[in-house]
Amino acid sequence: DRIISANLMMDEQAVELSLRPRYLAEYIGQTSVKENLKVFIEAAKMRKEALDHVLLYGPPGLGKTTLSNIIANELGVNLRTTSGPAIERPGDLAALLTNLQEGDVLFIDEIHRLNRSVEEVLYPAMEDFALDIMIGKGPSARSVRLDLPPFTLIGATTRAGLLSAPLRDRFGVVSRLEFYKTDELAFIVSRASEILGVSIVGEASTEIALRSRGTPRIANRLLKRVRDFAQVRGDGIITHELARSALELLRVDPMGLDAIDHKMLRAMIEGFRGGPVGLDTIAATIGEESQTIEDVYEPYLMQVGLLQRTPRGRIATPQAYRHLGIPVPGDS
Ligand code: ADP
Repeated sequence: DRIISANLMMDEQAVELSLRPRYLAEYIGQTSVKENLKVFIEAAKMRKEALDHVLLYGPPGLGKTTLSNIIANELGVNLRTTSGPAIERPGDLAALLTNLQEGDVLFIDEIHRLNRSVEEVLYPAMEDFALDIMIGKGPSARSVRLDLPPFTLIGATTRAGLLSAPLRDRFGVVSRLEFYKTDELAFIVSRASEILGVSIVGEASTEIALRSRGTPRIANRLLKRVRDFAQVRGDGIITHELARSALELLRVDPMGLDAIDHKMLRAMIEGFRGGPVGLDTIAATIGEESQTIEDVYEPYLMQVGLLQRTPRGRIATPQAYRHLGIPVPGDS
């Protein structure tokens, strides 16, 4: 696995749980999303109603799962967690919904991967808090409507564009999470160090933040790896110099790019004059799936201006040439 992948790795769950903020006040960054939610949560509590359904979208590792946990905590209700691919049949969803208590939050990760028959059960559940169940088969079959307790659905997706329009329209609150700024990530790193019980100097937190691709999950992962270096090579304290040399050894460059990013950009520049190059060609060059490149790696490269997406394919920008130390064509 690539160290700069924003996807959750197999052995990371326990640490992530311990580092996860539990209340809005501890959730760093995403100011406008946070401020809106604060008002909606307050209002729902005052009216003693369930919060409107919430759709959170944005690249992996930016805090969608964390935020849904926080919403449930702030509301003082239970949270049930599942994911699109885990709900195979309408009956699976019905079982989840009928087990909810009034006001509970149901979190569905990767909601764009729900299948159509399950989605259709979800519409009346979201809109009328009702479940339509078919009883019997053939000509004697009839539909019975079952009332559900009012609840809040929180859907998370890396790709809002893949959601069907009827599903998207049923969310009252739609929030997009953004990549984090360096100072926010540095704060997240300092806070995580405190929880993990390691000392880190401010410049080292910033150094890790700069190389974390705007993503808290990556920041926390890099911190853990740098901590190992501090314990083995140093005296346990993460100094600026130690952070820098550890990140160098981990082959994460000052912009958060790894060897595979370099290989990809280099292949585009040297093999295709910078593009446009089709996504599938890029995928074949570096041995990743197109989908993974599109959802996990590319959004950051576009955000920092190294890559552009056009209808004819991807283009490596002049900044990409400069970052790799390759002369930009036409520059003198
Ligand atoms: P997503 O669901 O978007 O993939 P997660 O909610 O699982 O991302 O976040 C990954 C990790 O990053 C969390 O375990 C948490 O430690 C950290 N994290 C995410 N957002 C924040 C934040 N705003 N402040 C502090 N830590 C955060």
